[in-house]
Amino acid sequence: MDNKRIVIFDTTLRDGEQAPGCSLGPAQKLQVAEQLYRLGVDVIEGGFPVSSLGDMEAVKTIAKSVGRLPDAPEICGLARCVKGDIEACAEAVKPARRPRIHVVIATSDIHLKHKLHMTRDQVVERAVESVKFARRFAGSVEFSAEDSARSDIHFLARIFEAVIDAGATTINVPDTTGYALPWEYGELIRRLIEMVPNVHKVVVSTHCHDDLGLSVANSLEAAKNGARQIECAVNGLGERAGNTCLEEVVMALRTRQDLFGLTTGIRTKEIAKTSRLVSKLTGVMVPPNKAIVGANAFAHSSGIHQDGILKFRQTYEIMNPEDVGVEESTLLLTSRSGRHALANRLKHLGYKLNKKQLEEMIVRFKALADKKRYVFDDDLLALVEEKGTNLKDDFVLEYLNASSGTGVVPTATIRIRKADGHVVQEAACGDGPVDAATNAIDKVTGFKPKLIDYNLHAITSGKDAQGEVTVRLEESGLTILGRGASTDIVEASAKAYLNAINKLMVAKRTRRKGR
Ligand SMILES: [Zn+2]
Repeated sequence: MDNKRIVIFDTTLRDGEQAPGCSLGPAQKLQVAEQLYRLGVDVIEGGFPVSSLGDMEAVKTIAKSVGRLPDAPEICGLARCVKGDIEACAEAVKPARRPRIHVVIATSDIHLKHKLHMTRDQVVERAVESVKFARRFAGSVEFSAEDSARSDIHFLARIFEAVIDAGATTINVPDTTGYALPWEYGELIRRLIEMVPNVHKVVVSTHCHDDLGLSVANSLEAAKNGARQIECAVNGLGERAGNTCLEEVVMALRTRQDLFGLTTGIRTKEIAKTSRLVSKLTGVMVPPNKAIVGANAFAHSSGIHQDGILKFRQTYEIMNPEDVGVEESTLLLTSRSGRHALANRLKHLGYKLNKKQLEEMIVRFKALADKKRYVFDDDLLALVEEKGTNLKDDFVLEYLNASSGTGVVPTATIRIRKADGHVVQEAACGDGPVDAATNAIDKVTGFKPKLIDYNLHAITSGKDAQGEVTVRLEESGLTILGRGASTDIVEASAKAYLNAINKLMVAKRTRRKGR
């Protein structure tokens, strides 16, 4: 293989799935594997076949389907250096066009003494036997020296040389506990490549954990020092603090190609979709500030940054969001956002406002932004839509004050501007603040419609979400639907109610004309 090409070994379905609370069934694993294929990973580690029937079935299913597609990735399963493990793994990966068996045994003294109760000689012997046995079933055999980062480098060099002679095609140097620092880990890779005489026959691999938040940095340092396979997981899932994050390591290599000069086969435009799918299926949420795939990864909030981005994107962006499958950068609209950002966002949503309309919109936008920290697209749509219907309305709500509480009769005062410009004020009481407000509206409009249906739901996100009220009214033989949105429920209700009345007025006029 091209010496500048990094093999992306995805272990979302094995190490990633070992993360607390994110176990996946065979059907879900297949769904992820299909997306990993579209993403263009080189190796899919589908599971640990001997560990459960589910994993056996999952790896087998992936091998049978994804493993047989054109340009299929290698389908891999994990096995300890135990005959039964290797046999189970061999059976699971067999249907794939390019099966890989990944055998692992620990090499650090801590693991030898406290876990395996084996001597170094015994470990080498077992590793060699296992690699030879695995090679009977697969042309591609990876050998992992678990806890490499805490192993004696001379022993590592010895065992790697032996397994390469036994037929291993990839040697993996895991920092199983996430203990290594970048320069230390890079040095380990560099020295191993120097010390293992037959290393040129194989691909040297990294497998890092994020216990100190360094897994991506360590993997990059390894690549810089000659490693040509990076093991990683989507969204950085994995044991404890997780694995090297696929999207971060891939985008770091790509964004700083000038320094690495290395490539991967990843179709980066599939990254966002892959991340969302994995998050959905595992139930593990991606934090908003997460690099590359967090909701805020391409969101700009400050007015200065927004202005810069609109003038020239690279002022505050090192990656093009479209390259990772994010539609475009988000300029988070806040009360600090200027008209440039607002107009731009509205245009994107399909609304071209003239200067006067925009001025009006800004006033309403600022009022909402003061109440709500962030104004999202759906907030804007709610604002525009409301404006759209208000333009020709017979009744426009100008003021509303409702009060209620224990031992207080719910009352509402309302001020409504009529089509002829007259402003009418009324007050009423009711069973609750919403009832009081609609009663006051009735006094102004002269209608007494029957409320058939009332629905309230949050239309935007957060505690300060806008609520949308939908009402269905019956009056003069007509059933009319009204909608209103506000951060205040009573106001949303009054707006919905008035919206229905306004529609009723239009309907009545149309009916009269029709006669
Ligand atoms: Zn691991």
